[in-house]
Order: sequence, then C-alpha cells, then structure tokens
Amino acid sequence: MTDVAVLGIASEIFPLIKTGGLADVAGALPAALAKIGVGVTTLVPGYPSVLAGLDGAEPVHHFPDLFGGPARVLSGRAAGLDLLVIDAPHLYARVGNPPGNPYVGPDGRDWPDNARRFAALGAVGAALGVGEVGGIAPDIVHAHDWQAGLALAYLHQHGRRHGTMMPGTVFTAHNLAFQGNYSPSLLAELGLPGSAFAIDGVEFYGYLSFLKAGLVYADRITTVSPTYAAEIRTPDGGMGFDGLLRARAAVLSGILNGIDETVWDPATDAQIEARYSATRLGRRSANKSALQAKLGLTVAPEALLLGVISRITWQKGLDLLLAELPRLLGLGAQLALLGSGERALEDGFAAAAAAHPGRVACAIGYDEALAHQIQAGADAVVMPSRFEPCGLTQLCALRYGALPVVARVGGLADTVIDANEAALAAGTGSGVQFAPVTQEMLAAAIQRTMGLWDEPATWRRLQRNAMRTDVSWRRPAARYTALYRALLAERAH
Ligand code: ADP
Repeated sequence: MTDVAVLGIASEIFPLIKTGGLADVAGALPAALAKIGVGVTTLVPGYPSVLAGLDGAEPVHHFPDLFGGPARVLSGRAAGLDLLVIDAPHLYARVGNPPGNPYVGPDGRDWPDNARRFAALGAVGAALGVGEVGGIAPDIVHAHDWQAGLALAYLHQHGRRHGTMMPGTVFTAHNLAFQGNYSPSLLAELGLPGSAFAIDGVEFYGYLSFLKAGLVYADRITTVSPTYAAEIRTPDGGMGFDGLLRARAAVLSGILNGIDETVWDPATDAQIEARYSATRLGRRSANKSALQAKLGLTVAPEALLLGVISRITWQKGLDLLLAELPRLLGLGAQLALLGSGERALEDGFAAAAAAHPGRVACAIGYDEALAHQIQAGADAVVMPSRFEPCGLTQLCALRYGALPVVARVGGLADTVIDANEAALAAGTGSGVQFAPVTQEMLAAAIQRTMGLWDEPATWRRLQRNAMRTDVSWRRPAARYTALYRALLAERAH
C-alpha cells in the first residue's frame, strides 16, 4: 500500500533511454520507494525507444495542440516502472546521433527545438500535477534536471491564477553544468508571462533558463550528494547559481544516489570471467588476467592495474591522468581505459596506448560488458574529477572491490573513505582521495595507492571494506521519503 503519490518528471529513464546518471536514478528510485510506502509514476517523453518498450499503453488524455502538433498522454508500464508517456511525434519521434541520445540531432548538435520539446514535458507535467488531465492527483511533483524545470514554472503560474491547492514540489539537480539556457524571445511561445523573465524568475544572465525555473520555483531542492549541495553554494561550484542557492539554502539538501545491486553484483555477474564476493576474493584474480588478456595488456598479476570508465571530458579531469601517465607507468602500473567524449583527449589516450603496448589499453566507445569486466578486473578505478555531483562509477567500484582513487569533490568525497593513517589504524578505509585536483596531488595519490598495493594484507582489508559499503538505494530512498513527508506535513498546516 502506498500513502504518498509522486509524479516524477524526467527526460531519461533506465532501461528505456539513458545518457547519464539521471536515467539510473529515475529508473531505480521508484522501486526502492515503493517498498516504503511511496508510489511513483514517471512522466517521460515518448521517444521511439520509450514507446517501443511500453506495455499495455492506454491513452489517458489528448492535447489537440501541444507546442505545434497533437499529442496523447499514454499510461503504461515498462521494466516494472509506472509510466506516463507523451506521445507527440512532432517532438519526439526522431532518431539522433548516436541513436541513444535524445538531445542531439544527426549533425551532432542539439535539436534546434529542444526548448519546445522540453517545455512540452514541463507543461504536461504541470497539467498532470494539478489533476487537470489524466485523472491523477499527485501529492508531490518531483522534477529532475533542466529538461523538467519548466514544470515548476507552469505550476507556479497555475497556482497564482487559480489559488487552488497545489502539489508539493521537489526539484533535483543532477549536474548544474547542464542548464537549458535559451533566448528570452521564446518566452511567449513557451507560454510564460513577461513577468517571469526576472531575477526572481527564469532570467539567468540574459537567458531564459530551464534549470533556474526548477531552482527558483521548487518547494525543495535536492542534489545528489551532501558535499555537492555545499559546493554549489560557492562561486567556484555554483555555475552562476551560487547566489540563488545560498538564498535557498534552507530548502536545499543532498541525497546520495545508489546503484542497482542486482545489475552490479560480482557474486552473480554473468558478464565477468569469475564470480566472487568479499569472502571469496581469491577468485577475483581470474578477472584481472582475463581483462589483461582481452585488452592486450601484459598478463601480470603483480602489476597494479588502474581502470577508468568515464565520459572523457574536462569535468572528469582525465587530462591530468594523461599527463601523469609516464610517471605512473614508471612505477610499474598498467592502465585500462573505457570511455568516449572529447576528441583531443580520446586521441591522447589512443596515442599513449600505441606508444606503450602491453601497458596502456584504450577502448573508445560505450560498452556495458567491458565496464563490468574492468570493475571486476582492475585493482583500482581512478576518478580525478574536477567536480562530481554524485558519481556512480565509484559506487560500482566499491561493490566490485576495485579501490576508488578519487578527487575529494562532491559525491566522491561522500562515498569513499580515504585509507589514510588514521583510517588504517581504525581498520576502515575503502579507497584513496586527493585534493586539490591537480596533477601533483593525483601523482601523490597514485604513489600512495602503490604503497598500499605493496602490502597485500592491507589491500585485501581495504577491498573487503569497500565491498561491504552500503551502495544500495535503501538509505537514499528513506531520505527522499522523509523529505516528501516533511514537505507534506508542512503544507498541511
Ligand atoms: P556521469 O553521469 O557524469 O557520466 P556517473 O559516474 O554518475 O557519471 O555515471 C556514469 C555511469 O555510466 C556509470 O555507471 C559508468 O559505469 C557508466 N559509463 C560511463 N562511460 C561508460 C562507457 N564508455 N561504457 C560503459 N559504461 C559507461
């Protein structure tokens, strides 16, 4: 039985459509919340892969004209999720490049009508939120990232016009780097009054910002780790929103993401060479040698094998790792990298692999199976991120006993326990952290990791600590539930 009804609004949801962590959260949180009395129905755009995956779709509403064409709202289920899907071919029936990315057209640039496409998501979300359509009346509307931000602006306008009882609203920012900023000339077309284009509205340095709409109009703002929630209130981390977020600090909090423990389970993972657990760690070595062999690395059990699974972008700090590579190889380490992103960095790693055969391997692309194999086979996973709202890769690494070597930022700071002297003396520690995010500090962290690697008993203990870390959705789901309930209790008064 559920006693709180939530309408989620998201532009991606795993397993139907995914470009990043947002999809994982939208796809995993509902099941974790259902266990503790919160029912989530998620509104998503009807991209081809979403419509194809929908079971038992029933139309619940028809819009004669939704931003330039007719649209239906379909109710259905997919992969255990309760969904409302906007079937609007003029907005969503298209295949971009790469096909799994809903934001980018065949020319590799954002679709020119993205403002309209995601205003439509917000407008339908707001109409559902106030019970005008679809026959649902949620207690809470929970919008994710800039693509859903306008839902809260439309709800705000609706509340001003009608003064009716409104649902409580929550906005989660998964990464403030993605803002959805557009020309203010779109204001009228998107159905927003001129008065909304103001400092306490959607205006952001002369642009109409979808992200700002979410941050301004939500009753509660969350982001995906406590440390990121603090960082974004500073000029260095706020991406221009720090002043607003300082002003709204009382309603801003950080709730970590979890990972799906059934997808990421080294004891049952069919994609890896040998299954293992915290108590059967000896078997893990077969994964290392299989990975080394598969990637053309020298099969050497004694070499510290560092893994990277990442978007290859400035955010992820991989330029620092590339610069540090010669010294790292001088220490006898190996590197296995999987990822894609900025061309110059991709080329840099590919050149390093060509220059150091047997010691550096570079797989450019997206490969779920190889991601699992690196988690199971690498000794450590490196994440020198300049900022990291939460980070999922280190959570998987903890679960697979690949010690995370991470920058002490955002969610990385909140999920990895640095194996410093105090932690080692106390028997804790699950990885290595460094700060500030510079090449020198990364070098020092890798050197420290090498020192730990040279003490096999210590390394084992750290691996066990890592694998026993709770990276599930249980605690995050309890925190979201507490947030929803507190918001509803406040509004009942
Ligand atoms: P972000 O969302 O900023 O890209 P996260 O660490 O939050 O970073 O989530 C990234 C997720 O995508 C992780 O689960 C990671 O394993 C996965 N991933 C990233 N790059 C690849 C890749 N090239 N192939 C397979 N999985 C990848």
